[in-house]
Amino acid sequence: MKDEKRDILLLSPEEIKQFLESNKEKSFRASQVYEWLWKKHCRSFEEMTNISKSLRDLLSENFFIQSLKPATVQVSKDTTIKIAFRLFDGALIEGVLIPSEDRATACISSQVGCNLGCEFCATGKLGLKRNLSVGEIYHQVVELMLLAKGKYNLSLTNIVFMGMGEPLLNYNNVLKAIEMISSDKGLGMSPQRITLSTVGLPKMIKKLADDSIKFHLAISLHSANELKRSEFMPVNDTNSLQALKEALIYFNKKTGERITFEYLLLNGINDSIPDAKELAEYCKSFPVKINLIEYNSTGNPKFNKSTSKNTDAFFSFLKSRNLIVNIRRSRGQDIDAACGQLAAKK
Ligand code: SAH
Ligand code: SF4
Repeated sequence: MKDEKRDILLLSPEEIKQFLESNKEKSFRASQVYEWLWKKHCRSFEEMTNISKSLRDLLSENFFIQSLKPATVQVSKDTTIKIAFRLFDGALIEGVLIPSEDRATACISSQVGCNLGCEFCATGKLGLKRNLSVGEIYHQVVELMLLAKGKYNLSLTNIVFMGMGEPLLNYNNVLKAIEMISSDKGLGMSPQRITLSTVGLPKMIKKLADDSIKFHLAISLHSANELKRSEFMPVNDTNSLQALKEALIYFNKKTGERITFEYLLLNGINDSIPDAKELAEYCKSFPVKINLIEYNSTGNPKFNKSTSKNTDAFFSFLKSRNLIVNIRRSRGQDIDAACGQLAAKK
């Protein structure tokens, strides 16, 4: 009896070579197999057409490829596309393709659900089922890349980890997937085009700095006031704004990178001028860019999107403090594909 099949995407080129040698196969085949897996991103061993049937059988007896099956595809009237992917164990995750005139952004998930419970977020209501594997993360990008080409004739230009889950709680798999997305042996995309969005976990941010990451970091701040932030982001109880600030100072010193703050404007909750003042104060310790995000409804009656009057005043105040600030309009709201709405309803 064979042991359980293993995930072949976890093997290095060297390990594939060793496997082939120990099964009396020619070791030069290892680079072909590796290329099929990462560069030609095949979904099954059957697709490896320049490899003998016997080797393909040997591989499929010992390994599996963690690819995804699109379960539902929804197209928004603004051309955004949301795909629910079915995973090998039946779980569902969502990925979103956001095309524009000259670029296409893939918004991908890092976990099935999320256990951090931010009150404004639909994913937070699901709880956490499990982490995604390297292959599951990588293949979301592949599927959305093929879709961008096939449907809109666009190359994938950007990737954001703003789908379901908290990427820094699936640290190793997310970093390995990013490594392969940016490697010449994989998709060859510049890490400068990849943004990881996190709720802001100080310990893990320091680890990112120590690992000298080359991709961008975005922090979901949403309030610069400890008590207020804790009210709707329970993670703040154990990962305070103060600890986050120290981690960001460390991150900036080590990497020289600017930090992006995502700030969701919630009517009457965090969108006043005193809130903007606290935010400006918090931004003094490192170079930042602030994205003001429109709230997308997730059915919680506590939250409404900020009025345009408040939004404009908030924006102007930050500008007057010489901060770099953008207002980000949502895409794909009609199909629940906007930030915070991903919950795989089916
Ligand atoms: N867990 C990570 C990444 C996934 S959430 C994080 O929290 O950053 C991606 C982004 O969507 C975050 O900035 C999050 O705060 C934001 N978001 C969550 N719910 C939202 C909502 N209802 N409307 C708009 N943005 C929302
Ligand atoms: Fe999790 Fe991010 Fe949603 Fe918070 S906003 S519950 S961290 S996915």
